[in-house]
Amino acid sequence: MLKNKTALVTGSTSGIGLGIAKALARQGANIVLNGFGDVEGPKAEIAALGVKVAYHGADMSRVDQIEDMVKFAQAQWGSLDILVNNAGIQHVSKIENFPTERWDAIIAINLSSAFHTTRYALPAMQAANWGRIINVASVHGLVGSAEKSAYVAAKHGVVGLTKVTALENATTGVTCNAICPGWVLTPLVQKQVDAKAAALGLSNEDAKKVLLGEKEPSMQFTTPEELGELAVFFCSAAGNNVRGVAWNMDGGWVAQ
Ligand code: NAD
Repeated sequence: MLKNKTALVTGSTSGIGLGIAKALARQGANIVLNGFGDVEGPKAEIAALGVKVAYHGADMSRVDQIEDMVKFAQAQWGSLDILVNNAGIQHVSKIENFPTERWDAIIAINLSSAFHTTRYALPAMQAANWGRIINVASVHGLVGSAEKSAYVAAKHGVVGLTKVTALENATTGVTCNAICPGWVLTPLVQKQVDAKAAALGLSNEDAKKVLLGEKEPSMQFTTPEELGELAVFFCSAAGNNVRGVAWNMDGGWVAQ
C-alpha cells in the first residue's frame, strides 16, 4: 500500500516510534529513522522487512539539525511523503520543583520539534498534493495528570498543532492527525514503573498493576504494534478525509 513512499519517523530507535516505523515498512514504505541509542539494531529490523532504510541523528531540540534531517529525508529517495512526529521525553515533578531546563527541553522536543519538521516538510507535500503528518501526542493531550505539567502542556499543544495543520491543508491531499496512546510499556514508561516500585516497595509486576489501575480500565498496556496499525490506517486511502482528529488508544482512560 505504501510502496515507493518515504516515511520519516522521529524518535524511532525505540518504543512507539520503532513500532510505527515497522508497521509502515510492512506496507512497503522506505524509512528514515531518527533517535538516540542503538541504531544498527533498528536499522536491521527495518531492512529485514524488505524496504530501504536510512538514519539521521538530529537532536529534536535543535532547529538547525531538524532542518538538515528533513532535507536529508527528502533527498534520500526523491520525496518525503509521511512524517511521524514521535520523539518525546518525560519528567515527573510538581510545578514548584519542576526544573526549568526540563520544562524547556520537553517543550522543545515534544512540541516545537513537530512545528519545525512540519513547516520544513509541508511545501513539498503540498506541491505533490499528497502527504500524511501523524503526530504522536498522548492521552495527556486530552486530559491532565498531576506532576506532568510540561508533558501535558506540550501534548495539548501537539493536539492543537494537529488541528491547525489539518485545517490549513483541508482542501489538499495532505492530512494531519494525532495518535493519543494511554500507557505503553516502553523505556519511557518503565522508568515510571521503576519509580512506583521503589516508592511503594513493590515488585516490577505489582508496580505495573498499580500504574495501570490508576488510569487504564482495560488493565492492559497498548502496544507499539497496535499504534503502528493506526498510523497505517491514517496513511491509507480510507484515511483521505480523516483530518485533525486526536485518536486515543488508551484502554478506556479518557472515557472515564
Ligand atoms: P522511548 O523512550 O521508548 O522512545 C523515545 C524516542 O525518542 C527514542 O528513540 C529516543 O532516542 C528519541 N529521542 C528522545 N530525545 C530525543 C531528541 N532530543 N532528539 C531525537 N530523538 C530523541 O519512548 P516512547 O514511549 O516510545 O515515546 C514515544 C512517543 O510516544 C513520545 O512522544 C511519548 O510522549 C509518546 N507517548 C508514550 C506513551 C507511553 O506510555 N510510552 C504514552 C503516550 C504517548
